[in-house]
Amino acid sequence: MNSLWVSPVMPDYDSARATFSWRRERSRLAGLPDGGVNIGYEAVDRHLRAGHGEHVALCCVARDGSVRTMTFARLAAESSRFAHVLGTLGLERGERVFTLLGRRSELYATVLGTLRAGRVLCPLSTGSGAEPVALRMKAGNARALVTTREQYERKVAPIRSRLPHLRHVLLLDPGADPPADTLSFPALTRAAPDEYTVAPTDPAEPALLQFTSGTTGAPKGAIHEHEAVLAHHVTAAYALDLHEGDVFWCTADPGWVTGMSYGIIAPLTHGVTTVVDEGDFSPARWYGILANQRVTVWYTTPAALRMLMRAAPRGGDPSPAVRHDLSALRFVASAGEPLAAEAVLWGREALGVPVHDTWWQTETGAVMIANFAADPVRPGSMGRPLPGVEAGVLACGEDGRAAVTGGHVRVLREPGAQGELALRAGWPSMFRGYLHEPHRYEASFADGWYLTGDLVSRDGDGWYWFVGRADDVIRSAGHLIGPFEVESVLREHPAVAEAGVIGRPDRLAGAIVKAFVLPRPECPPDPELRRDVMAFARRRLGPAVAPREIEFVDDLPRTRGGKVMRRLLRAREPGLPEGDLGTPETTAPAGTAETSGRPAEREP
Ligand code: AMP
Repeated sequence: MNSLWVSPVMPDYDSARATFSWRRERSRLAGLPDGGVNIGYEAVDRHLRAGHGEHVALCCVARDGSVRTMTFARLAAESSRFAHVLGTLGLERGERVFTLLGRRSELYATVLGTLRAGRVLCPLSTGSGAEPVALRMKAGNARALVTTREQYERKVAPIRSRLPHLRHVLLLDPGADPPADTLSFPALTRAAPDEYTVAPTDPAEPALLQFTSGTTGAPKGAIHEHEAVLAHHVTAAYALDLHEGDVFWCTADPGWVTGMSYGIIAPLTHGVTTVVDEGDFSPARWYGILANQRVTVWYTTPAALRMLMRAAPRGGDPSPAVRHDLSALRFVASAGEPLAAEAVLWGREALGVPVHDTWWQTETGAVMIANFAADPVRPGSMGRPLPGVEAGVLACGEDGRAAVTGGHVRVLREPGAQGELALRAGWPSMFRGYLHEPHRYEASFADGWYLTGDLVSRDGDGWYWFVGRADDVIRSAGHLIGPFEVESVLREHPAVAEAGVIGRPDRLAGAIVKAFVLPRPECPPDPELRRDVMAFARRRLGPAVAPREIEFVDDLPRTRGGKVMRRLLRAREPGLPEGDLGTPETTAPAGTAETSGRPAEREP
């Protein structure tokens, strides 16, 4: 059982909501000495000024398990060097620096150096192939790229001529005979001064360009300002219960918004120690890190939890919490996909603490809805809106999105009513634009609300329940079916490793539920298994919701965060439109744990 207990940051939800004001919360930030707000300053400089330079900022666990620590003072020095390099290279304020890096200390120095220097950071995932990398760099007018030689030669060198804006490529490991037209990150940073003064920064200056996962459409580039750091900081306290002295581990890929907002920015602004795992996923490695690094707050994904659950199912003896000393672990949360009730319960048994679901998007920049530390978790629910966040369920029209009539929307108040989740516009980390798509940005708002594109319901107590992405929801013979519900049930079948569910157009029903099922390696995908999985699903879901069609597959297209890319499954169906950026970030099943080196297994 977990021995550490500290009183939750937010002991009482209702009174916190009643008294909350973003303006007052601003005093939690240091702010720049000459005015303004800069994310990099909040993450690094403020701790030095407060005399905490010797606190450990990063605890990097190398592939071989060895551990190196980096203090805030050292992180300030390394990021200062990079900030100077950007000036030397002639990058203007507001120009974009891209990273194509896994989790390692140089990533932190690059991100923070870029932000402190007032340039805009755009992180890409090393799990992305050459095409998605090229498209994002082209769209974002990448001026500089920081990456490794291997990533560069595989993904960027072949398409460099298509990136005329890309002036500088900095390689962490250029080697003795560096590729043409590249610079050495170590040589440049070594030669640069290790102190940097952050210039006055308008809170409304752009800081981050972050691409969405693109599970239902082409990835969109969301633009965030320095002001967003207020929400990163505050939500890490309220939603993740981050306290002084915590050891925090966020497993998300740095190319995904969770890996940036909570893998890098939020914990550093709190001055806590962040664990940086440079290695590949395996249950033994992860439990080892939780135990050996004495992680107190852990933020991960449902995909990762599913893999751990498979390795140590409920009722197993002894549980991981007993085999590994997880007594330091106080709070566990997950984001990015619906968290099945089963995973919450598994957490309680296997980790000694329940898993708290949190809901948010690239566009929201920070957690908006969560299960909080002081409340009992409602398994299967996304939770309640954070203080300072007003959420609503909006009535939908024929197209399944919020109906806007004469500029107005209708907020549904009856418990259980389903509609589009909307957030009252104006929280600090709200995105300020979609890259090159002003009309799309405008169309995301109506009547003072930001329309999230997710369908949800809210129960009588104000807790939100996820139904599905509006674009994913299947309308079949008068039923509204969320693919996630069907996928979760299919995954519970002992022969099923993973499943992805879509609606296939049907003349009579409108759409029928079709499941792409990845069987476990030891289960042959034969007609008998198909019948058995169908019958299982019908028993659990009823005939109206269970899949009418099952296709066995040997891969499922996924994002780096482990989300099934249903738009690519739809594109496999004859007669359905292809996704316009149809490249999965990985096709690996997030559940087969053989060491094939496939990306999703390495970094769920
Ligand atoms: P992205 O920002 O591209 O990673 O995707 C955001 C989308 O992921 C949301 O609009 C939801 O559809 C989904 N999502 C994120 N968190 C959750 C959650 N806790 N439960 C259900 N869906 C989620």
